[in-house]
Amino acid sequence: MMARRQTIDPLIRAKVIETWGNACWLELPGCTRVGTEDDHIVPYSHGGMDTVSNIRRACKHCNASRQDRVLYGYGARLHMVVVPPGSCDREAVDYIDSHKAQGDPVVSFSALAAAMGLTSPSLAERRAVAMAWSGAYRQFAISQEPIDVWCTRTTPSSKRHPRMLEEWIALDYDVRVIDPGFSVEWERAKDDATRKRVRQWYALHLSQELVDTRQQERRAKLVALGLRSDRAPASSRPQW
Ligand SMILES: [Zn+2]
Repeated sequence: MMARRQTIDPLIRAKVIETWGNACWLELPGCTRVGTEDDHIVPYSHGGMDTVSNIRRACKHCNASRQDRVLYGYGARLHMVVVPPGSCDREAVDYIDSHKAQGDPVVSFSALAAAMGLTSPSLAERRAVAMAWSGAYRQFAISQEPIDVWCTRTTPSSKRHPRMLEEWIALDYDVRVIDPGFSVEWERAKDDATRKRVRQWYALHLSQELVDTRQQERRAKLVALGLRSDRAPASSRPQW
């Protein structure tokens, strides 16, 4: 739970609105657009200060839905690698292995399943793996340490977070879509259930191009909000 705290100085709030506007800065799924609360960029619980540079206006929904997750680089740098289900995230793990630094944590479905001793998980077992994935993500997403965290995922949605991809883009995560192609995935799928999931994945029409377009729009807003520089990406960001 959030620590009990005082409200911020009304003069600081007025300056925040004058400088950055009163639109909700977060734009998470379900955003009501109008800022009604003061949101700390570096969360209050992480020692974020009540300053004009550290506060933006947010709607009540987004402020609650964010739950102290950090914007990419304001603490952890999250890399989300999306692959269709036929590959069993093997392609994602290969990609991560060739990009991560030694010691970077990797949150992978296949590795979590293997750690639980599951070779061909049932639906209930897959749910347990998904819970482990979410728990690990949740902890890394609020980390104030400047670490790179690599997560694999087949479908960027869940029951609790049906628009997960939009959350990632709002928080400016590094999102990679790896698509070996439908026919490759269809061949790789070991059973009918996986083939069905492959078909569902391709019906989502996920692509790197789509992600890039939406990230460019989001980053332009973050520049206007003083949260990103409009120059070349910082050197802390891996160069692809
Ligand atoms: Zn909002």
